[in-house]
Amino acid sequence: MTNYSKQTSLLHSPHKTDPATGAVSVPVQHASTFHQPDIEQFGDYDYARSGNPTRRALEETIAGLENGTHGFAFASGMAAISTTFMLLSTGDHLVITDDVYGGTFRLTTKVLHRQGIEHTFVDMTDPEAVKAAVKPNTKMIFMETPSNPTMNITPVREITDFAKENGILTALDNTFMTPVLQRPLDLGVDIVIHSATKFIGGHSDVVAGLAVVKDEELASELQFLQNSFGAILGPQDCWLVMRGLKTLHARMSVSEQSAHELAAWFLEQPEVEHVYYPGLTTHPGYTVNKEQADGAGAVLSFRLKDKEAVRRFVDHVEIPVFAVSLGAVESILSYPRTMSHAAMSDEERHARGITDGLLRLSVGLEKTDDLKQDFANAFAASRKEEQV
Ligand SMILES: *Cc1c(COP(=O)(O)O)cnc(C)c1O
Repeated sequence: MTNYSKQTSLLHSPHKTDPATGAVSVPVQHASTFHQPDIEQFGDYDYARSGNPTRRALEETIAGLENGTHGFAFASGMAAISTTFMLLSTGDHLVITDDVYGGTFRLTTKVLHRQGIEHTFVDMTDPEAVKAAVKPNTKMIFMETPSNPTMNITPVREITDFAKENGILTALDNTFMTPVLQRPLDLGVDIVIHSATKFIGGHSDVVAGLAVVKDEELASELQFLQNSFGAILGPQDCWLVMRGLKTLHARMSVSEQSAHELAAWFLEQPEVEHVYYPGLTTHPGYTVNKEQADGAGAVLSFRLKDKEAVRRFVDHVEIPVFAVSLGAVESILSYPRTMSHAAMSDEERHARGITDGLLRLSVGLEKTDDLKQDFANAFAASRKEEQV
């Protein structure tokens, strides 16, 4: 198939039509087992944990979008990350970004150590810190860029070059950017991971995870782990993710443009102490992000004075849903302190800049002016309330 842009490939993929019927939608195959023609020779599918045609369609599609060769669909983003960590064994050491997603933080600190897997958290904006953290038993470096919720940027190439020289596997959580904006495999990463619950699914109606590689050996190891661990994505959910993917480019374009405008707008508000968005030229990771990604994404964070200011603002905002999660058609406002980063102690959170005044906004598809108006109203109402 001709190599088209990501925008076109999202629609014009090998799974655009069903070869059996011409249907312009991937059929949902619910069968858990498949009849075999012979006692020795099995068909393409035998048992649905090992492989399912709907899942395979999604796995091939995401592999193509990430410029990889093999994709894997999991029951959640955390299932994709857990299965990836199963590449590690007792005695291995993991170097992981210190502002990693809260669930990955919990998995690392509360579960991996039980398996005898050591870890070191480092500030990945600084490749020297990564090099200094590596030990003789370091087997994997785990990145997330932009990070959550302070939107730090990791210089991916510098870290993958170093990892390759030292025979260390690299994994990168690409949830915030999606393959439309960032293709980590092209930057030398070995395993790219997604919570497809977010932008890829895009409609707040499915929980799913994906992983993609482009190395045969690594692919067969991951496939072995996917089948052994068994945290696969069901066919109906695979179909929902594929349906979401069709509009991914359009959604990212609109939401990202809006995020840029809103980031600039928040900067001007007297209530806002700081705006975290890698699309702002004042962001410390602006240049690195521009080099390694095709955009700054649709998530930004902003800091208000304190918890009370957050409470007042959230009370008066009308348009965004106030919820855990991000990457949907509707804007989502979240409070990392009690939501995504609740698993961290106050000390751990503060060390990562996740202060009590920090709010995260995932920009959806609403008209930007309506969002600005809503936020302006919320600030005005907060001011009034404060004066009473
Ligand atoms: C949500 C999220 C995850 C976890 O994904 P689930 O689908 O909720 O299991 C992992 N990484 C990032 C960056 C996320 O935002």
